[in-house]
Amino acid sequence: MAHDEEGWCVAMDGARMNCGIYETRPSVCRRFVMNGPYCHAVREEYAQERTRAIDLNLL
Ligand code: SF4
Repeated sequence: MAHDEEGWCVAMDGARMNCGIYETRPSVCRRFVMNGPYCHAVREEYAQERTRAIDLNLL
């Protein structure tokens, strides 16, 4: 998926902070395990590159 100028996926619903195309999201997104090892690695890499970290306190 393409990213916007802040690095978020263009399908991200910024107001609700969730996927705006969840029911039809790509297969790569369906395989991604939220809060799994790869998720944590991506978040850590993102936090090191950016001043704004992604909050892991998900509901
Ligand atoms: S689940 Fe996939 S399509 Fe949806 S916001 Fe995340 S990266 Fe984008």
